[in-house]
Amino acid sequence: MAEEYDFDVIVVGGGISGSVCAYSLAKEGHEVLLIERGVEPGSKNLSGGIFYSRVMEQVFPNFTDEAPVERVITRNTLSFMNEESVVNVDYWDKRLAQPINAVSVLRAKLDPWLTEQCEDLGVTVMPGIKVDELISEDGHFVGVRAGDESLRARIVVAADGVNSFLSQYAGIRGKEPASHLGVGVKSVIRIGEEKVKERFNLSDNEGAAYAIVGDCTQGVAGGGFMYTNKDSISIGVVMMLEDLKQSGLASADIHDHFLTHPFIAPFLQDGELLEYGCHLVAEGGKAMQHDLVRNGLVVIGDAAGFTLNTGLTVRGMDLAAQSAVCASKVISSALAAEDYSQAKLEAYVSEYEQSWLGKDMETFQRAPHFLETTKEMYGDVGKLLADTFFGVYNLDLTPRKRILPVAWGAFKKSKMSMVRLVKIAINAVRAM
Ligand SMILES: Cc1cc2nc3c(=O)[nH]c(=O)nc-3n(C[C@H](O)[C@H](O)[C@H](O)COP(=O)(O)OP(=O)(O)OC[C@H]3O[C@@H](n4cnc5c(N)ncnc54)[C@H](O)[C@@H]3O)c2cc1C
Repeated sequence: MAEEYDFDVIVVGGGISGSVCAYSLAKEGHEVLLIERGVEPGSKNLSGGIFYSRVMEQVFPNFTDEAPVERVITRNTLSFMNEESVVNVDYWDKRLAQPINAVSVLRAKLDPWLTEQCEDLGVTVMPGIKVDELISEDGHFVGVRAGDESLRARIVVAADGVNSFLSQYAGIRGKEPASHLGVGVKSVIRIGEEKVKERFNLSDNEGAAYAIVGDCTQGVAGGGFMYTNKDSISIGVVMMLEDLKQSGLASADIHDHFLTHPFIAPFLQDGELLEYGCHLVAEGGKAMQHDLVRNGLVVIGDAAGFTLNTGLTVRGMDLAAQSAVCASKVISSALAAEDYSQAKLEAYVSEYEQSWLGKDMETFQRAPHFLETTKEMYGDVGKLLADTFFGVYNLDLTPRKRILPVAWGAFKKSKMSMVRLVKIAINAVRAM
């Protein structure tokens, strides 16, 4: 039987999930092939770029020292953006760097480093190859076809991202409905290391992450992000696909509108555009979870729908890594037992459900619905906050009022009813 297989495991997709899975399996002594359709690993990948990196330290013990990470995130800013005003909740905390909690990364650097680590452990890495279909025999998946080439393995891992053609091919899921998807448009703009530190008030290798709602998406459900790299800024928007369609606006125009906002433009001044890209984002949370295994097949990362946007944090890379860790454990045990059946591989589901990954998907299951349906978050709430602060700081020589009457005056100007505002507050607390 052994001669029938070219590899123990074929991993399709050289993103975070695929590389972590291939690496973890190779570490256990398995023969692994990692196939990536991008000519260079990372060339097809796009992330905003904040990696909650503790999970990586379990796989690569000196990850933040050795991997090409950009900055250590110690400042998180939540911004409510209106056309002519911005209200920030600015949180800086040295403890976020001891131990390091999150780093900014550029996938064009990180993904090649990850595949290099795989190669060092003996993984065969094949970039520039697109897998066209799965090979199925007697109800088991036993390999992949890429062009004329057929490659056989005991187990195939689908780590092929949000569109996961392999999961669709295996009949695990259909085409993802638009309500589960977002679209992201991102630029990387070089302004130089000194300017990054000056403009974001950072010392040494500290970094800042802005999560922005409101005028950045011109009222479309979603948000903007602005993250500091060593000498550049990653900046862009992520919007719910359905709401974007309904708005009739073009995602690229919204991205440009955001970058030219009077609050944002000074951060980017005299910058040089290094990268520009557009990518789908899994936004459905727990609602887009589907089966994750078949005989001889395991689905991980974005392909499995593991992303979480809570409004405060966008997480996908750490979830991708954790799903790979859980999957590799179960695959290793299946290989040892020479049992590649769905029944055996189902242990992956309980493995991830019992880990923080499953628990977080559960905890934040209301977040996608809240963010999609609470349109006030993308306009009225920001205006209410700004009007309240304007009332406090605009000393126009009329007698001053205390903050409560000022806030009440701002509220009466807004289109929201008190019942709606209370509902939004309750739903926000329950969702986040
Ligand atoms: C605009 C935007 C901002 C984001 N911001 C953040 C953030 O700040 N923090 C965060 O943690 N997450 C963020 N995410 C989510 C994060 O990028 C993903 O969750 C993460 O990349 C998932 O990793 P993955 O390995 O599962 O999939 P991917 O990184 O998408 O990798 C899939 C790989 O499979 C390859 N592939 C696909 N089909 C085939 C095939 N047929 N044959 C061979 N190879 C194939 C692709 O080329 C790709 O390299 C963001 C996403 C977007 C789009």
